Amino acid sequence: MSKIIKVKARQVFDSRGNPTIEAEVFTKNNSTIAICPSGASTGTYEAFEKRDKNNKRYLGKSVLNAVNLINTKISKKLKGQNVHDQERIDTLLINLDGTRQKTRLGANSILAVSMAVKKLSARIKKLPLFKTFLVKNNFKLPYPLMNIINGGVHANNGLRIQEFMIRPDRAKNFSDAMRICYVVIKNLSKIIKNKGLSTSVGDEGGFAPMINSNNQALDLIVSAIRKSGFINGRDVSICLDVAASELYKKGKYSIHSKSFVSVEKSIKEFKKIITKYKIKSIEDPFAENDWISWNKFMRNISKVQVVGDDLYVTNLERLKKGFLNVSSNAILIKLNQIGTVSETIEVIKFAQIIGFKTIISHRSGDSEDTFIADLAVGTNSDQIKTGSLARSERVAKYNQLLRIEERLGKKARMNKIY
Ligand code: PGA
Ligand code: ZN
Repeated sequence: MSKIIKVKARQVFDSRGNPTIEAEVFTKNNSTIAICPSGASTGTYEAFEKRDKNNKRYLGKSVLNAVNLINTKISKKLKGQNVHDQERIDTLLINLDGTRQKTRLGANSILAVSMAVKKLSARIKKLPLFKTFLVKNNFKLPYPLMNIINGGVHANNGLRIQEFMIRPDRAKNFSDAMRICYVVIKNLSKIIKNKGLSTSVGDEGGFAPMINSNNQALDLIVSAIRKSGFINGRDVSICLDVAASELYKKGKYSIHSKSFVSVEKSIKEFKKIITKYKIKSIEDPFAENDWISWNKFMRNISKVQVVGDDLYVTNLERLKKGFLNVSSNAILIKLNQIGTVSETIEVIKFAQIIGFKTIISHRSGDSEDTFIADLAVGTNSDQIKTGSLARSERVAKYNQLLRIEERLGKKARMNKIY
């Protein structure tokens, strides 16, 4: 047993330059920090992110009240608790908050503390973090879903779809997966430059050229894959995050162009691009409450990974509903959508039992914290989505996975994506 003696928090900044929370948990001889990330295209059903709306000095974005709650109420509650008893600590935090969406303390305060507790427990046990989750041996590395063109609310070009990603399906190991993505990204950069477009990047590190048609973005990626000597749909697959909740109005969607069209028409358009560009994975093709359209989509397509992000918000009840409704076959996992490490693990466990793929994800506002890299390996998750090979907060997660791969040595295997 190692007793927590105090929890201390401070306001730091995330990759978008917005304030966020860093929590530090102390035992007698040790301490560890963790930083909470923050989304932009957040789902309505996500746990609550506490900010000081009325503090004009930080334009309503500071987290000073949440920091104060950690330093007082949370610190007092956790004092004397065993740092190795994650579930008990998370339950204490959930009960101390006492609301459905963690509105009293804020999921950002709770999660920063929950992650710091997990890291500190691993440190005291002298274990690498990835060895402290579900998997005990035969660790596998996830396939990266690397975001290479940014649109939607993550960029200020006119692209409707939020994320255009590549997945190196034939990679032999994680280093090879990184090399393949690296080559495609460098070739994409050249192609974009040669067209006289900007190679500046969006919030998740993908290029954000001033183009406004999805097909134009997809054509650029296909050219980059080809120029790199790979075959699209075999060596490297294109994957999308539509983030359709942002493109929904009164039963209609503006996914494929600026005008709003029916669900039937949207599905037809999806089918066209899936075939033409050999797309293997689509996240949030429909809005977070539009269960009927998700099911229609599932009945209309095959051999495509359909991922629920805003739909499930890493929430067990919503995942169960989606399973019964046959809404998708994969789930995106974001710790701060639910707010504690234990609840996140519960969702991953359930998803794996029902045969869903699990994809661990960053947020568009992220930090140097690499917790999710360890979480992906430690839960045997199939894929990880953590941006492009640009912006250190994204690259940090990939670098941590390279370290884990090296540490596992010959035993390191890639996960299965099919
Ligand atoms: P967010 O975007 O972090 O802004 O919500 C990521 C995603 O939609 O997957
Ligand atoms: Zn998403």
